[in-house]
Amino acid sequence: MTQHPLNLLMVSSEAVPYAKTGGLADVAGALPLELAKLGHDVILVLPRYRCVREAGRSFRPVCRITVPTLQGPVETLIEEDVIAVDRGRVRVWTIQHEAFFDRSGLYQAQGLDYQDNLDRFAFFCRATIEVMVYLRTACQWPTHLLHLHDWQAALCAVYLKTIARDRQEVQGARTVLTLHNVGYQGLFPGKQFENTGLPPSVFTPAGLEYYGSVNLLKGGIVFADYVTTVSPTYAREILTPACGFGLEGVLRNREDRLLGILNGIDTDRWNPATDPYLPAKYSAADRSGKQRCKQALQREFGLPETSAPLLSVIARLTSQKGLDLVAAIIPELVAMDLQLVILGTGEPELEAEFQALQARYPHRLGLRIGFDEGLAHRIEGGADVFLMPSRYEPCGLSQLYSLRYGTVPVVRKTGGLADTVVPLAAQAGQRERATGFHVEADAAEALLAVLRRTVALYQDRSAWGQLVEAGMNADVSWARSASEYDRLFVSLVLEESPPAL
Ligand code: ADP
Repeated sequence: MTQHPLNLLMVSSEAVPYAKTGGLADVAGALPLELAKLGHDVILVLPRYRCVREAGRSFRPVCRITVPTLQGPVETLIEEDVIAVDRGRVRVWTIQHEAFFDRSGLYQAQGLDYQDNLDRFAFFCRATIEVMVYLRTACQWPTHLLHLHDWQAALCAVYLKTIARDRQEVQGARTVLTLHNVGYQGLFPGKQFENTGLPPSVFTPAGLEYYGSVNLLKGGIVFADYVTTVSPTYAREILTPACGFGLEGVLRNREDRLLGILNGIDTDRWNPATDPYLPAKYSAADRSGKQRCKQALQREFGLPETSAPLLSVIARLTSQKGLDLVAAIIPELVAMDLQLVILGTGEPELEAEFQALQARYPHRLGLRIGFDEGLAHRIEGGADVFLMPSRYEPCGLSQLYSLRYGTVPVVRKTGGLADTVVPLAAQAGQRERATGFHVEADAAEALLAVLRRTVALYQDRSAWGQLVEAGMNADVSWARSASEYDRLFVSLVLEESPPAL
């Protein structure tokens, strides 16, 4: 339990089970529940997208609030869903604006960003400020801390320190901005700046301006009381040009207020002992079911049911994930005695390349282009090895699922991958703690060399079993991360010195 229960307003543009395009939704879906379990009173604020209505949850109307916009005041309906957790609950409040949010996609349609994304998320953030006012005046619920996620929520921190600064009802609220991927910043043409409703004085290089454009994430980094990201290594990497995507200087200015806190995973939904998607269940103590999962997976992909090591990939097919390196070494891989299954969707060139390779090596390579939650679980259950050669990776979730499912992760030594996978060192003495393999360089030969080591170790059943078991016993739960957020939030509200890098 927390030492100091707080009123926390969590602001995210997506959260499971309401709306999801990526890992952010998993975090925003799980973290509020964990913080509530610690004794905090948490309200999660989301836009009311079309998919929220279709999520099968029952919402009730709470109130109508008036949001100031450039075009004049806009009235919006706030609706509530309540999620029960042990000894508590999380309230989910949605902000309605049919023209902005009742659309087929969250941020884009047919691969193109909506033209009015700045207006949409500026409205979302201004409405959040009005929600704070309502909570204070109508519910005697002062927001102690606003936890903002990514560029879509970043303007809340800016509004609180500018146009809302003198409003009595929001006084004292602290802001924490969490960066899930600095590669996505919410960049808009400079001429759209006035749509934020902010004074021109903050459209400068010290504020939201980025070489003439509006950069919402930058605004959040500058104005938030504290900035976190999703792993300690990534927190250091974003201070460098290689991972800062142009914001490294801005981030270095906030270095004393920056911290990396690893994500956890939902260990109920991702549990090989109970997973309804798996054809057979298993645990660290009895892994026999994993063999049956492997055979079923080989059948599902039309691969021969051999005992060769089965490698796997589940990912968005983008250059961030380094899958071009996998494509480059497939001829060498298939020459070794192994199989590979790939599930993903993304860049058309990469999809086409994998399709051509699959047609060439149908008995070695299984491929599904698309997004398939059930198949993702079956791959984690049935594969022996999980590949994640990302160029950068803020935290990464898939390698955490792999650890839990006894599927040995082979990861690029970067960001959260470096922090969550303990590499098998060459020295025999350190073997007990190892849970996978690190690839040091962003190069196909480096990946191939590590995979040769992986496949060689696979033949040593006892060493392999030790690696699998250590991974399955690693703590990948949210409980650990939530207690770090708890410590940070409480120290900020009590104005004690918060932890930093
Ligand atoms: P990112 O958020 O950068 O995409 P993460 O590893 O943090 O990467 O999270 C990816 C999540 O999306 C994981 O839960 C993974 O299983 C899932 N995922 C990615 N691609 C697919 C797909 N094609 N089908 C099913 N699930 C997928």
